[in-house]
Amino acid sequence: MSDAVCPSCGAQVSVKGTPKIGMSVTCTACDTELDIVWLDPLELDWPIEDDDDEDFDEE
Ligand SMILES: [Zn+2]
Repeated sequence: MSDAVCPSCGAQVSVKGTPKIGMSVTCTACDTELDIVWLDPLELDWPIEDDDDEDFDEE
């Protein structure tokens, strides 16, 4: 089991099993859904929104 720090609240988040980049974990302290973005050291970040449902870029 590996530990990472939640970027949202700063709590330690335990990752069960073998961490992989892109894996989703949920912070047990603030309930934020996060993605693993780096393995050494283990780093978490908010998931990248990759759907085009919302029209932010109007041309
Ligand atoms: Zn958190």
